[in-house]
Amino acid sequence: MSTTSYNPYEIAQQQFDKVAEKIGLDNATRELLRQPLREYHFLIPVHMDDGSVQVFKGFRVQHNDARGPAKGGIRFHPEETIDTVRALSMWMTWKCSVVDIPLGGGKGGIVCDPRNLSEREQEQLCRGYVRQLARNVGPFTDVPAPDVMSSAKHMLWMLDEYETIHGAKYPGFITGKPVGMGGSLGRTEATGFGVIYVLREALKKLEIDITKTTASFQGFGNVARYAVQLYQQLGGTVIAISCWNQNDKRAYTFRKRDGIDYNALIEITDAFGTINKEKAADLGYEVLPGDAWIEQDVDILVPAALENQITIENVNNISKKVKVILEAANGPTTPDADEVIQGRGIFLIPDFLANAGGVTCSYFEQVQCNMNYYWEKDEVLSKLDTKMTSAFNSVYDLSLSKKMNMRDAAYVIAINRVAQAVKSRGWV
Ligand code: GLU
Repeated sequence: MSTTSYNPYEIAQQQFDKVAEKIGLDNATRELLRQPLREYHFLIPVHMDDGSVQVFKGFRVQHNDARGPAKGGIRFHPEETIDTVRALSMWMTWKCSVVDIPLGGGKGGIVCDPRNLSEREQEQLCRGYVRQLARNVGPFTDVPAPDVMSSAKHMLWMLDEYETIHGAKYPGFITGKPVGMGGSLGRTEATGFGVIYVLREALKKLEIDITKTTASFQGFGNVARYAVQLYQQLGGTVIAISCWNQNDKRAYTFRKRDGIDYNALIEITDAFGTINKEKAADLGYEVLPGDAWIEQDVDILVPAALENQITIENVNNISKKVKVILEAANGPTTPDADEVIQGRGIFLIPDFLANAGGVTCSYFEQVQCNMNYYWEKDEVLSKLDTKMTSAFNSVYDLSLSKKMNMRDAAYVIAINRVAQAVKSRGWV
């Protein structure tokens, strides 16, 4: 565990300032883009099953909406803070911009642990969140989506509350809805699959045969599991996965040197991505400490859990064999660790490019909602692949031509587009 405390908002601002300086951004635009335009803080009282009332804290931050309505998920996490949500909302702006979809950046959070809440309590929390925000979000202003520990069923409760308040149907209010209820086929898989589409492109550039590669993952939630599934389908071998154990709520690394069996592992994993440790041991997995995922002798490391996981304290534990770090999570690498990684010449695919598949598919979901006509899954996934591949290539080409690392190149593209939007609107 890290003993240094990293503030994600300061990190997001540091990353922004570095590139703003590099591209000579004017002061007013810098000031406007290095912090959120708007934020909402509120309390959500919930009548619990035992008759008590518990008061939860909620946030929604709209970082920027110059390119379109703010867009981004709502996280459920016991350690959620306003600064984490601010950082994540900034990263959403860059994410939508780097894949060139007409959306801005926003993010929401509720300080809670849904693993300890009944279905009814979760529903009340979702409805309470929307009751506090219904006048400040909407299909044309700010469109939420699922994120850490929130899913399609939560989105539908939120939509239902929004439509009840406004007295009409607004399927475009939220994305990540269940299929058949305004959701898009492929949305659940989109973030994880998108991560692997960009990995596939990166390996082509690096002339590495994917079928000869091994990987270690941190996390087994919605992003990691579909990334693992597609990576193994393309011939890669996942040898280790770190995730939470169901009983003691601690992280462990589950290792199988000849490759994990995806279907068997899913059988012993719940919807929040926690695994049953005893059952994993029965299936022949070695059970190692939670942070052992980072020390594995693999070609590819995939942090796919939370922010601040690769830090100055563990970055030197990364094996000499590692060639690619694929940031499936938002903000998993701290700037000091990032410098070490760049210094070692490891090819890092930055978060807001690597995990943009989710929001890209959310955009497709909005398009389908507007037409009230839904595409087949293959069509959704092929459009997603095209978008991700093209964004990857633009970032890669810039990083080569300007001799920059991939993170800086992604920032240059993303910031320039947003800066252009605020200027042409006459905001600065
Ligand atoms: N929560 C996802 C993300 O961080 C998706 C957001 C969305 O679909 O709006 O990118």
